[in-house]
Amino acid sequence: MRAKIFDKGCRACPRLAGFLDAVSDRYPDYYCKPVPPFGDESSRFLIVGLAPGMHGANRTGRPFTGDHAGILLYRTLHKFGFASHEESLAADDDLQLTGCRITNAVKCLPPDNKPVGAEINTCNTFLSNELRALPESSLVLALGGIAHRAVVKALAMRQADFKFAHAAVHDLGTTRLLDSYHCSRYNTNTRRLTTEMFEGIFAQARELLAK
Ligand code: SF4
Repeated sequence: MRAKIFDKGCRACPRLAGFLDAVSDRYPDYYCKPVPPFGDESSRFLIVGLAPGMHGANRTGRPFTGDHAGILLYRTLHKFGFASHEESLAADDDLQLTGCRITNAVKCLPPDNKPVGAEINTCNTFLSNELRALPESSLVLALGGIAHRAVVKALAMRQADFKFAHAAVHDLGTTRLLDSYHCSRYNTNTRRLTTEMFEGIFAQARELLAK
């Protein structure tokens, strides 16, 4: 049997489960559950974000959908031929990803967008199963340092051997890991990550996937 990469009923992190209950009371029409991976299940390209955003994935139930961080991501996915549209509006729109899947290191909304170490570690079992199920010569794109470290941990590698750096490529044996700054509102507003830089990452990803 295939190891679980997601459980919609998971409440293994008490703080996050309680927080989701409280957010659900405040916003009854929000999704407010663990957010499933989205995209092509057989793809060799997996994008790993940090965690659902309050009014984005936590509202809509699809990673990077409905808030600022998703605008640049889906526009870039479309430009590089991975997405059928340049906008992801809702979990029931007809957007399709081809050759690409998006997941989060932590599947539940954390308070202040900050999961604690224990929550990252608990959810790492799902990420580990997802990474280990990737086909040969796959590529993982980590959005930000926390996602990068979660991927390294999920594959039981030493953090000291794989330092996060924008546009760095790491050989993790069963897969390759490409790093990018996260496409968050803060990073794009401060121009830590520009559209050109992010498109450069996807051009690099296309090259790596062709090898
Ligand atoms: S963050 Fe992951 S492990 Fe924790 S409750 Fe949510 S789905 Fe479960």
